Amino acid sequence: MENMANTAYTTHTTHTTAVPYLENIAAEAYLMDMDGVLIRGTQVIPGAVEFIARLRAHGKPFLILTNNSLYTPRDLQARLAHIGLDVPAESLYTSALATAQFLHRQCPGGKAFVIGEAGLTTALHDVDYVLSDHDPDYVVLGETQTYSFQQLTQAIRLVAAGARFIATNPDVVGPTENGLVPATGAVAALIAEATGVRPYYVGKPNPLMIRSALRQLGAHSETAVMIGDRMDTDIVAGTEAGMQTVLVLSGVTQAGQVDRFPYRPTLVLESVAQINPEDVPGGEQSTSHTSHNSHNNARNHHATAAQQAELTGSVA
Ligand SMILES: [Mg+2]
Repeated sequence: MENMANTAYTTHTTHTTAVPYLENIAAEAYLMDMDGVLIRGTQVIPGAVEFIARLRAHGKPFLILTNNSLYTPRDLQARLAHIGLDVPAESLYTSALATAQFLHRQCPGGKAFVIGEAGLTTALHDVDYVLSDHDPDYVVLGETQTYSFQQLTQAIRLVAAGARFIATNPDVVGPTENGLVPATGAVAALIAEATGVRPYYVGKPNPLMIRSALRQLGAHSETAVMIGDRMDTDIVAGTEAGMQTVLVLSGVTQAGQVDRFPYRPTLVLESVAQINPEDVPGGEQSTSHTSHNSHNNARNHHATAAQQAELTGSVA
């Protein structure tokens, strides 16, 4: 079975170039998660550079999303360029930016006590927030590498005294080259336990972050696609935002886990290397690929004809 699939794979690649096949996806705008979709740690996922180039060649607006609130878009741009992925800073959208947008709409020109790094403090300054520990409207917690007991004590006292508690993202651990590190969600749990007040999380899986990104792009959920590597964050958030979704198997969620979830992605692909932004409206172009389904086993190709029709047809 595996050998047959590999043979079919090889045969098919002779008809294309670097990838076994490309799914034509007729969306007007693209949102995508960063880690596990375009990069993995400090490596660019094979085909990601070409995928971004295809989006640009088709003139498709896109945003790259990350729940990590450490960095400003400029910082991130430099870090990505360093490992070989060139994207403009304007194409990067962090949970810190989404948090700043949320607070700006909720309470314009407010005051916040912030535990976080430049990614978060810059975003809040950019929406004219005053950062202060004196009678703030909000305590805003983000990712940091230097939590201090003094800061945590201050945050706990302010929340206990009535400040609203916001956190950029619920992730409890993050990966580094040396192993796991505690992330925003873990520190938020400490403050929540101490105060009895749970934070409002802005980042994924809250679809608020997805809607905020769509607004930033000037895009509409019905004609946009969300690409992610996690069913429990990217795909659920995209689904709740009313978008078509593509799960790529280049990150956290494995193929065998997809059916365990009560929602499903529109399409499951190995990686973004297989995505071709397509301008053709309607579902006709998907049939040329479904005819190849018999040549590709489940390992390579998880989309049914119905799924492809749904994806391409809904944006006609
Ligand atoms: Mg990811």
